[in-house]
Amino acid sequence: LTVTELVSQTLDQIEADQKVLNDFITINRTDALSKAKEIDEKGIDPDNIWAGIPIAVKDNIITKGLKTTAASKMLGNFTPIYDATVVERLQAHDVIIIGKTNMDEFAMGGSTETSFFGDTHNPWDHTKVPGGSSGGSATTVSAGNSIAALGSDTGGSIRQPASYTGIVGVKPTYGRISRYGLIAFGSSLDQIGPMTRSVEDNAALLNIIAGLDERDLTSSDKEVPDFASKIGKDIKGMKIGLPKEYLGEGIDEAVKAVIQEAVQVLTDLGAVVEEISLPRSNYGVAAYYIIGSSEASSNLQRFDGIRYGYRADDVKSLEDVYVKTRSEGFGDEVKRRIMLGTYSLSAGSYDAYFKKAAQVRTLIINDFNQVFENYDLIIGPTAPTPAYAIGAEVDDPTTMYMNDILTIPVNLAGLPAMSLPAGFVDGMPVGLQIIAKPFDEETMYQAGAAFE
Ligand code: GLN
Repeated sequence: LTVTELVSQTLDQIEADQKVLNDFITINRTDALSKAKEIDEKGIDPDNIWAGIPIAVKDNIITKGLKTTAASKMLGNFTPIYDATVVERLQAHDVIIIGKTNMDEFAMGGSTETSFFGDTHNPWDHTKVPGGSSGGSATTVSAGNSIAALGSDTGGSIRQPASYTGIVGVKPTYGRISRYGLIAFGSSLDQIGPMTRSVEDNAALLNIIAGLDERDLTSSDKEVPDFASKIGKDIKGMKIGLPKEYLGEGIDEAVKAVIQEAVQVLTDLGAVVEEISLPRSNYGVAAYYIIGSSEASSNLQRFDGIRYGYRADDVKSLEDVYVKTRSEGFGDEVKRRIMLGTYSLSAGSYDAYFKKAAQVRTLIINDFNQVFENYDLIIGPTAPTPAYAIGAEVDDPTTMYMNDILTIPVNLAGLPAMSLPAGFVDGMPVGLQIIAKPFDEETMYQAGAAFE
């Protein structure tokens, strides 16, 4: 099989499924095929397992010369003039960027229903959401059309869609991957991460995109280990905490049963799984929506109708340019976050909201630190329920926000975590979440691989 054949078959499948799944915003046919031809001509380096492999990239990760919209009308026709660091690193390994995936607008949402480009459909049941915000990336991998995809995770946007579509999704430690070229949402929370069918592929993909980047001062100079180095090693004696809050109220009974089975698998392999507590985790959602929205309100100031993307016509003054452009260019969910964030940061509310949320964040970090003094990993469900029907929750922001109750604390604490397929409820996949210590992705992958 030549790379050209592989890429052209992949494109045909993606285009055929696009009509039903709507998992792409842009399919990169012409460029992908010419890149494939180039690789065929130059020959594949046998040491580079990624050469010629088609990978899908979430549409908030910028790609030079390839439309990047963040699923917003605001950037509906935006073509970047440089590549994100992760994209440069993929290209250095001769990966083929097969297309840009659908998502919630500016990654704000958990169902891929806030996209300006329409809903994505879950490949397991087309009437259900794929989760979000990285719903398109999850869908193309789950449908078997892309070997891997990149997503971004601010409060669960890689792990939750991975859970809803039955794939492996990893949010690495904050700082593990450069955010240069990721359209910013909540800068202290955002991380790019790999979405794949297998744990091993996931570790391998993380290896080629991780590491220090001088263009992102929050990227870490910690050495990048071989993330697969512990895969296949015995987990006997490994100490794993199961937070009682993660199997408490609001979590679907059938989901709990799937997680109990996963606990049994780990116990049978010799791991020691014990109940622990993360007492402040229930305040995570409240703190996150203040902090995330505050950062978003600041990050989204740049979309002013002057420098990037959409500009309203028929404007009479500079004020008009701003107001009309932003009123017409942003969707409702994005506006809701900007209002919430601006309010929380305003002089009269800062102490009561932003400052309090920042204090709660510290308490949540302390909870994790305490548990990690005695445990190697923490496990639990990724999401309270399996995927739900398209349209069922989109008009009810508070219910939507609660769907991320189990993933958000991890972003607030900057920890690495993965979701991997653990079972099914009524024919829909359910994910197990594995949370590790900062920069200990290897142990997370080791435990994850025990399920394969
Ligand atoms: N669903 C969460 C939100 O809407 C998380 C989004 C994300 O991780 N990008 O903020």
